[in-house]
Amino acid sequence: MFGRNKGKTAKYTKNKIHLKSGDKVVVLNGKDRGKQGKIIAVSPKEGKLIVEGVNLVSKHVKPRKVGQEGGIVKTESALYACKVQLICPHCGKTTRIAHKFMEDGKKKRSCKKCGEVL
Ligand SMILES: [Zn+2]
Repeated sequence: MFGRNKGKTAKYTKNKIHLKSGDKVVVLNGKDRGKQGKIIAVSPKEGKLIVEGVNLVSKHVKPRKVGQEGGIVKTESALYACKVQLICPHCGKTTRIAHKFMEDGKKKRSCKKCGEVL
């Protein structure tokens, strides 16, 4: 490649994220492999996303107010978008995203397997 790394580019940001929050995905790698969940948040800059119930980390929380309980809270942490695969809501299969041009010229995401617009 060109050798120079302009700006902060993480390892996996070469590929654009075509996923949106609300999409159902399956995890391909790591300790949560095979787990399914809904995307809660996407960070295109980092190439990462947060999936509901996946990649849980324990956070130690101190009680801040009187009567509030401290302890260990589980929260989702971000994982790389290339480590998940989309599940099509129409055909229920893991799929990749294709782009479809609508009659009015708009570009829409569609399922590569069944062709339905997502
Ligand atoms: Zn489909």
